[in-house]
Amino acid sequence: MAATQSEQIKTLTDNFLKLPEKDRAFALSLITQAKKRDLSEKQWFWVTKLVNDVTAPPKSVELPFVGPRDALDALFDKAKKNLKFPSFTLDCPEVGSVEFYRCSSTAMKPNSIAVGQQKKRLGWIVGDRFEWKQGVTESPKLIRFVQVLLNNPVKTVADFGKMSGRCCFCNRVLSDPQSTAAGYGKRCAEVWGLPFGASIQPTIKTAA
Ligand SMILES: [Zn+2]
Repeated sequence: MAATQSEQIKTLTDNFLKLPEKDRAFALSLITQAKKRDLSEKQWFWVTKLVNDVTAPPKSVELPFVGPRDALDALFDKAKKNLKFPSFTLDCPEVGSVEFYRCSSTAMKPNSIAVGQQKKRLGWIVGDRFEWKQGVTESPKLIRFVQVLLNNPVKTVADFGKMSGRCCFCNRVLSDPQSTAAGYGKRCAEVWGLPFGASIQPTIKTAA
């Protein structure tokens, strides 16, 4: 066995557990045979292939851009002073009800914004990109929705609150005129540092 061949067998042995399970029995038979006798040309071909597969750098996937997070982070920063776990849920007509919360600095995706639907994780906003959870069907509509949110979070939560008639932060029905005009309730406006009451410009100008 030539030096490079013995190196290949060593690499294959060292990375054995990184191999896909379906390839392990085959790899093991190559490793054990190589110890006893030289392998055939075809067998060396497979050793090289398995070594290449297992040592190849992970394919870099281009994650979809969703926009700078500064405005949404500013909202969460304000709410974090008043709530332990600030989150909100928007009813998007095309996607359904989507929940957003910011992960802690010690979470699996530190400081990301987790995006979920009916208690199921869809993915995370990591930096300015969206990362789908493995196994989740990727939806361009959700990406578009997250882009809209990040572009102007205050306007988006207000618009969706007005559409659904509920406060996206506490899910209460918006009943008084000020809440209806804002798209969220008074208490939540205070908690999240949003304009409310006199500071809201009326949508429809009334005749003097
Ligand atoms: Zn509320």
